[in-house]
Amino acid sequence: MVSKQIVSFEEFMEQVRSYITVPEDLKRIEEAYEEAKTLHQNQKRKSGEPYINHVLWVAFFLSELETSPNTIIAGLLHDVIEDCEVSKEDLAKQYGEDVANLVEGVTKVKRLEQNVSEQLAETHRKIYISMAKDIRVIVIKLADRLHNMRTLDYMSPEKQKRIAKETLNVYAPIAHRLGINDIKTELEDLSLSYLCPDEYLEITQMIESSKLKREEAVDLMIEAIGHLMKLENIPCKITGRAKSIYSIYKKVFEKHRPFSEIYDLYAIRVITETKLNCYEVLGIIHDHYRPIPGRFKDYIAMPKPNMYQSLHTAVVGELGNIFEVQIRTFEMDAVAERGIAAHFKYKEGKSLSPKQEQKQIEDKLQWFREFVSVSGEQTDTSDSKEFFETLKHDIFDANVYVLTPAGKIVELPSGSTPVDFAYRIHTEVGNSTVGAIVNGVMVPLSTQLHTGDVVEMKTSKKHQEPSEDWLKFVKTANAKSKIRSSVQKRLNENREERIEAGRHLLKEEINKRGLDEKLYLSAKPYDTYFGVLTVKDFDGLLFSIGSKALTVHHIFEVIQIERKPVSEIDKIIDRKATNAQMHPDGINVEGLSGLKVSLSKCCSPIPGDDIIGYISKGEGVKVHRVDCPNVNSEASLKRLISVSWDKRALMNHQFECEVMILADDRPMLLSDIASTLGQMKISIRNLDVKVKDASAMFHLTVMINNAESIKLMTANLMKVSNIYEVKRVIN
Ligand code: MN
Repeated sequence: MVSKQIVSFEEFMEQVRSYITVPEDLKRIEEAYEEAKTLHQNQKRKSGEPYINHVLWVAFFLSELETSPNTIIAGLLHDVIEDCEVSKEDLAKQYGEDVANLVEGVTKVKRLEQNVSEQLAETHRKIYISMAKDIRVIVIKLADRLHNMRTLDYMSPEKQKRIAKETLNVYAPIAHRLGINDIKTELEDLSLSYLCPDEYLEITQMIESSKLKREEAVDLMIEAIGHLMKLENIPCKITGRAKSIYSIYKKVFEKHRPFSEIYDLYAIRVITETKLNCYEVLGIIHDHYRPIPGRFKDYIAMPKPNMYQSLHTAVVGELGNIFEVQIRTFEMDAVAERGIAAHFKYKEGKSLSPKQEQKQIEDKLQWFREFVSVSGEQTDTSDSKEFFETLKHDIFDANVYVLTPAGKIVELPSGSTPVDFAYRIHTEVGNSTVGAIVNGVMVPLSTQLHTGDVVEMKTSKKHQEPSEDWLKFVKTANAKSKIRSSVQKRLNENREERIEAGRHLLKEEINKRGLDEKLYLSAKPYDTYFGVLTVKDFDGLLFSIGSKALTVHHIFEVIQIERKPVSEIDKIIDRKATNAQMHPDGINVEGLSGLKVSLSKCCSPIPGDDIIGYISKGEGVKVHRVDCPNVNSEASLKRLISVSWDKRALMNHQFECEVMILADDRPMLLSDIASTLGQMKISIRNLDVKVKDASAMFHLTVMINNAESIKLMTANLMKVSNIYEVKRVIN
């Protein structure tokens, strides 16, 4: 990475020749340099140096990333449209469309930046959009920004702060996102030095004061580990690693950790040849130095979203210091330092056209383009802040990289589901999705995807109906808007049809139940339940039935349960039993005497239960529990009569009571039940046992005094192991 501020043309060309050898390309680069020199000849930087130094530095930086000849030429000419009144057409004529487009892209970003003040977020958004069009523009822009940050001293304090802030908020995250780590680190450190100069100074002084001690410890550790690797014959390169000032700042000043606790100050990196070597190195280091628990991370098996791979661990070093150790292959190291740049490194001979090159890179950023196109419809400035937050989130927060069965990488924001994946592939795929297979296993559509997952969608030609429920879990703006529009369209198209279908289904059920068709095909019986059923009106109800969102059965259940009879029963119960007659069975019947009274068999009421009488045809008064469904029908309302228990008459009286016991079957279970009841002196009248698989169901008729005794019996039975439910039976 370029550490010098000023680069000579000779140094620059030497670097270029190290990977570009085609004479024609070299000639074009030299021409571009001469042209830039002439065009900028009367211009000076704020520092007083000739302007050409700036563009040469930018181009040198790009050559260090081994970018293509066109990118380097664009780097040399990146300021000429803006500063030298050269037109895009002129550039196109001389250097081709590709170079002209790149320079124009950089110029656009620059112009937008100059109008930052008010509409910060909006400006940034436009910057991103222009970036999305060509990633090489971003890389040139990053180089430009890095050099400007290095020479920011010559600007006014106000401008310094503004540019530093923008760099920290926008450019450093972009560098991180693209995985260009050293640029990210330097941009952050430089920004911090302008934004928080005091803290910056404090940290650098702390680092400086511990420098000698630290270097000594690091050197010792490098030597010791190097020795171990030699013994094991593992090829490797070991380096000490400086911790970025910004990362220390965040820990010390934002997370309030003491400076002395920041382990990472002692850090080394072991770079080796193969993945296997990495794990071997890890094993050897853990074998010789005590690892710190919880500090090991395997980013080789689980790469970071920006493709970073490494093993991280922390161990106690030779002198008792804690060392952070990174272990990776040379290839991983290149990706870690150069990120996306490592992927689009220019290769001669394997000639990709600018278009192909661009396509490759754009594929990586496809999610981003799509994001821009989706939100383009609704971006007024009022929402720009929120938009910017979302955008920042979508770009910089961890993304996941999943694979199609054919091995194509698809990038999605983290938290994305197979449905997001489907819509990313194609709207048609999303709309016809019926299932998803992740890593060979059928999973729910709401499953969150992880980097490395292989995702295969199950689609159906007949089924073109994305479910509204998907909106609850999809992550991408694209999937959301596609589902919404499809659902909306479908609803509007079929509304009338569905209402008719609903009416038909309702009518069928009404006839089946022998209900009054005129009444039940109107809003009246349902209108107080529209809220409960989450429909707006009767048409809405029919629509829900017609679209299978509600069943008629369920609707009838709702209006049945919520109907009034229970409270009517309450009224009857509340009426004072003035002329109550005592009955031999211990039942008082309000205002009536000489009636035959019996306890109903269906719910077997016992003293303590709330009861109600039902005047049956020819069988006198039948006594039910008030919650017995057999008396809770409209038809029975008129025949209900208040009844009550006569406690005096009921002492020592025993009643039949049916109970059901559910249990996981085991040996001796029945005899344990019998002895529990025996201890309570409860006799069993009848017993029926059903065992299926491992579960047992006991149906007992017992003789019992009152509801209190039942409670006690239930409690005792529940103590018997394997029994999980005891309940009274209503037939
Ligand atoms: Mn510039």
